[in-house]
Amino acid sequence: METAKTKMNEELLKGLQREPTHKAVLLYSGGIDSTAAGLLLKQEGYSIWPLFIKYGQSAQAAEEYLVRTSTEKLGFEPTRTIETDLLKQLTRSRLLGQTSVDDSDAWVPGRNTLFMVLAGIYAKQIDADGISIGYMLDDNFVFGDNDFFHHQAMEGILSRSFLQPTRVLLPTMARGKQDLTKLLYQRGVLDLTVSCWNAKMAEGRVVSCQECANCVERNKYINELREKL
Ligand SMILES: [Zn+2]
Repeated sequence: METAKTKMNEELLKGLQREPTHKAVLLYSGGIDSTAAGLLLKQEGYSIWPLFIKYGQSAQAAEEYLVRTSTEKLGFEPTRTIETDLLKQLTRSRLLGQTSVDDSDAWVPGRNTLFMVLAGIYAKQIDADGISIGYMLDDNFVFGDNDFFHHQAMEGILSRSFLQPTRVLLPTMARGKQDLTKLLYQRGVLDLTVSCWNAKMAEGRVVSCQECANCVERNKYINELREKL
């Protein structure tokens, strides 16, 4: 027991003295929020290490295509992809392989908590300062594991788990979807993102359903931007 205690203390002391590497693992899905989070973090001086998780989501193929082909243009490191069917085995969300229409169809309980732990493990492996998730104002009060207090708590859990300060970076937290859509539109990278829950690949390109809540919202914001410019 004494040996274990000493080792833990040593690890913690090492963790507290660790020099920042300015590397951040980004939970990257090819959506507007995570893409904007990566761009804003990059602007703050971080190198971006995207992690894409295939968990059986309906739009998986379209998302995977984007996260593989867009990183160079966005200035991110190449995307690391991992796959798990744990959520598919454990939940009945319609997001996993069926057509989703609104938020209640798209809820996978605990998904963000799990993904943030996985991103944390990857961050520890590559000696990154922390992780980032494309969480923004509109996300609050929708899913329990996507609000400010959840993410703040995750910073504590990850730091505690790895015995070193592990940051949860939230560069988009004070901004809304409309604002982030505008940011990507102005930088000419909106086409490198997908919002549709049911997006598919057809003839080498991403095709959105135009019917789900995310498609309706995206089209509304794009139309507003086009009218103003
Ligand atoms: Zn759609």
